[in-house]
Amino acid sequence: MSLPQFKLLRPRTVEEAISLLDDCGQHAGEGPFDSRSGQVRATRIVAGGTDLVPSMQQKLFEPQYVLDIRHIPELKGIRQTDGGTEIGALTTLTQIEHSDFLRKNYSVLTEAARTVASPILRNMGTIGGNICLDTRCLWYNQSLTWRKSCGFCIKKDGDLCHVAPGGTKCWAAFSADTPPALLCLKAEIEIASAKGVRRIPLREFYTGLGDSYRNLAPDELLTRVILPKSSAGYRGVYRKLRIRGSIDYPLAGVAVVLSRSNGHVSHGQVALTAVNPAPVIVKGASELLAGKAVDEKLAEAIGELAARTAKPLTTSALTPEYRREMIRVFTKRALLAAANGLAT
Ligand SMILES: Cc1cc2nc3c(=O)[nH]c(=O)nc-3n(C[C@H](O)[C@H](O)[C@H](O)COP(=O)(O)OP(=O)(O)OC[C@H]3O[C@@H](n4cnc5c(N)ncnc54)[C@H](O)[C@@H]3O)c2cc1C
Ligand code: SF4
Repeated sequence: MSLPQFKLLRPRTVEEAISLLDDCGQHAGEGPFDSRSGQVRATRIVAGGTDLVPSMQQKLFEPQYVLDIRHIPELKGIRQTDGGTEIGALTTLTQIEHSDFLRKNYSVLTEAARTVASPILRNMGTIGGNICLDTRCLWYNQSLTWRKSCGFCIKKDGDLCHVAPGGTKCWAAFSADTPPALLCLKAEIEIASAKGVRRIPLREFYTGLGDSYRNLAPDELLTRVILPKSSAGYRGVYRKLRIRGSIDYPLAGVAVVLSRSNGHVSHGQVALTAVNPAPVIVKGASELLAGKAVDEKLAEAIGELAARTAKPLTTSALTPEYRREMIRVFTKRALLAAANGLAT
């Protein structure tokens, strides 16, 4: 499958990148128009390209401009600051996976990063691209010919949903591995545009809609992820369901963190991916865990809560029932594993 035609832009600094985003946005009257967001989608940012390039080959995106940010050094690397740990948006998943500092202090993140795709894709794929990853659906991640023959849908070019017919909402599943880990760690993200810089908790970045799934304007660039000092030292576990263990996107994923004081949980959090249009925190899990010792019964109860939070639909090759059940099982196992890690 060939790539559509586009003009490649290669900024060397963040300043140049946001100026180009601003400029292209303003001069892109003929760019593809996103009817859902009402915005011109003239420019696409490419980082590692491991998701964007196949999507462009499938003609899911046909931007006028592609802004290649790979040559911006200030977006790369892991730095410790007074406020916590900053990870540049261009830091590769391999760098995160192999960072001794992150493994020691934010182990749930290194564990989640290690499960993304395959080693070669992790060498290219970045944390920024993982956070911004497009939502996925059997009816969407297909070639133009396939989509044309089966009928377009709300997420791209059509006005109906094959998964939930009769509805007006897209339920494509958010399917990146690191965001649930980052949610458990209370991560924040920094977003830059010509208007200035804004910093928001990661949980506010996702809309819960399968089509316009992220709060990112066309002229905005994700520049870094910030992990607070208060989350350092949490014990974490990430478990994921996929068809091919060596390479696939998650079809259900659970991240768990725990910290302990006097033999009991002082803080715990559980977050899910690939079973909703956004990565989600399991509401009520923290409260259930607080002050308790994790045993089979408590882990089972939180597994039930997680399964009720998951709303998988037929967006993937595995049935929604199986994916929801695996959320229950993985949550219980992950909690027990994290608690056993704490016991030593
Ligand atoms: C075979 C295969 C298997 C895969 N398996 C997994 C998996 O198991 N788990 C998983 O999580 N992912 C998986 N992926 C997807 C992908 O490899 C990762 O999600 C990777 O982290 C994406 O990062 P990237 O830098 O390549 O993103 P890109 O492809 O460059 O970009 C992805 C999206 O993010 C946007 N973007 C990127 N950087 C920025 C930024 N700084 N600011 C604003 N927007 C930005 C792009 O415009 C695009 O919309 C898989 C991909 C393939 C091809
Ligand atoms: S959930 Fe529905 S609208 Fe969304 S991509 Fe799938 S078929 Fe299309």
